[in-house]
Amino acid sequence: MEEGKFFSWDEVKKNRDQIDWVIFPTAMKFAKEMYLSEAKSCPKCGQTPEKLFWLGIQSSNESWDKGEGKAGFLTICEKCNLQVDFFRDKELENAIKEGGIRL
Ligand SMILES: [Zn+2]
Repeated sequence: MEEGKFFSWDEVKKNRDQIDWVIFPTAMKFAKEMYLSEAKSCPKCGQTPEKLFWLGIQSSNESWDKGEGKAGFLTICEKCNLQVDFFRDKELENAIKEGGIRL
């Protein structure tokens, strides 16, 4: 498996494990409305951004403690195990920093 480009695969897994499937479709619809026009296709297989897996994601606690935390939306090609794009969400990052909403 390719090394994580934006997040470690461990972080990706943790975020995936915590998906709230009730709000997930709405959240990803919102993410696509915001970012789909800028999103890239998979550089390996050419899968369109629409068909990539979109994941709301935030860094591990350790990264936040080091001041390197980031949060936003990640697109993943599941066929190639590739992190294609990451869209940072500053508002979400601030909420995490202030409110301590952590993994
Ligand atoms: Zn691909």
